[in-house]
Order: sequence, then structure tokens, then C-alpha cells
Amino acid sequence: MSTRNVRTAAVILAGGKGLRMGGDTPKQYLLLEGRPLLCHTLDAFEAAASVDAILVVVGAADVERVRAELAEVYGPFAKLVDVVAGGRERFDSSKRGLDALLSRPETYDIVLIHDAARALVSAECIDRVVQKAVETGACVAAVPVTDTVKQSADGDRVDRTLPRKELFAVQTPQGFSTELLTAAYEAMEEQRTQAPEAFAEEEKNITDDASVVERYTDHPVYLAQGEATNRKVTLADDLEFVKYILHLRKDGI
Ligand code: C5P
Repeated sequence: MSTRNVRTAAVILAGGKGLRMGGDTPKQYLLLEGRPLLCHTLDAFEAAASVDAILVVVGAADVERVRAELAEVYGPFAKLVDVVAGGRERFDSSKRGLDALLSRPETYDIVLIHDAARALVSAECIDRVVQKAVETGACVAAVPVTDTVKQSADGDRVDRTLPRKELFAVQTPQGFSTELLTAAYEAMEEQRTQAPEAFAEEEKNITDDASVVERYTDHPVYLAQGEATNRKVTLADDLEFVKYILHLRKDGI
């Protein structure tokens, strides 16, 4: 199926504190090649033909500053429709981004959710996720795991070795039919208000948007081809890796 008549919006999550690397500046605002990490992420979505609109989610205190900077200092970004405030947890920020999209006059068939901290994502990877989301309704960018993965409940004694050929490391973007993702988040909110204790247990394992779809709907989630370079900046050495690749790309290598 072609994505030509499909309207797609990307929600870029930049609402985390991102201080695990040390320093006072959240990772999404660190300058690389003279521009914040977030802007390199936005460049990829601007370049992806399958994406029509971009909405950025940031911490409540940063909304006005980021809105102005994206428009006047580092932009303009032609596809950017809004900058909105996120929430306490990553899934709160996704939900707020989704709600902000739903309240807009235009409608979108597919919603992508992407971590701002994955600045090296390529336009090709984004287009593949949109294509797979159109075909299946729910998918995640992922790569086969190359390390052997062992499970250990106490972090000391190994309980078992997991079958490597069935394991995939999941990245973002993750793509969903807007209707499905909305239903999943509505069901999550219902549990949060109706059964807070059950939700408190559940939320520990909600580390991405696909897990909301897996837990709160019957819809299957599929794998789209991710890429090894689509690494999330979490620790200092991730940042060095991203800096290095951006530098190579700038020189056209
Ligand atoms: O903390 P982690 O690296 O898993 O965050 C993934 C992405 O989600 C980051 O880009 C971060 O800025 C974003 N996030 C968010 N709101 C939160 C927590 C994380 O937008 N409350």
C-alpha cells in the first residue's frame, strides 16, 4: 500500500530531564555541530517524505523558549506545528503529544512517536516505519540483538539464556494508526483512574508506546527495520558516538 495519501504526524519527545550523563543541560539541548541535539532529530523528520507534520513535546518550563528558538534561531522547521508541555513519565509526554495532535483542526491517519535523544535516525528509517504502520496499524523500528542475552532476576545469578534469534532491540520511531494509539492511551488512563494499584504495577513496564498498545489493546505490534546507528543518547559515550557520526555526515563521509 502506498503512503502517498496517508497523513502522518510525528511526535518528538524531548520532555525528559536527561541528566544521567552528568552536567546541568538536558541531553536534548546539548549543542552538537553548533545546534541542539533536538534540532538534528527534527532535520531527519523534515527530510522524511512520509511525514507531514511534527509536534515537539518538552518540559513545561521550556515550552516558550524552545518554541522561540526553533522558529527564530535554529529554524524555521517547515513541518513544525506546535511545541507543547510533557508530563512526569515518558508515557505522560506521549499522551500529551497525542492529545495536542487530536485537538488540532487537521487530522492524521498515522502517528509516529520518537525519542528526541535518537538524533541519528535516518529519513529512510522513518519512511519504513510509516510504511509498516500503514500496512499493520502498529510497528516499532528494531534491530536483531547480536549479543547473547541472559536473564537474571537478582542481577547476579543467571536464571536463563534467552533464544537470540527471537530477540530484537527496539528503537523509535514507533508508528501507529491514530485511532489505535488513542484507544490504547484511553484504556491506560481508565485503568489509572479506576484501578490505581494495578496501574502502579503495570506502569513499571511501560517503557515505550508499543507496550501501551500491547497491554491495553488486542492489536499485534510488528517490527520494522531499524538501524544500528539509531542509538539513543543516554550516557556520555553515546554522545561521543553521535557527535562523531554527525561530524562525518557534515563532511559528507
Ligand atoms: O529517559 P529516556 O531516555 O528513556 O527518554 C526517552 C525520550 O523521552 C527522551 O527523548 C526524553 O526527552 C523523552 N521524555 C519525555 N518526557 C518524560 C521522560 C522522557 O518527553 N517525562
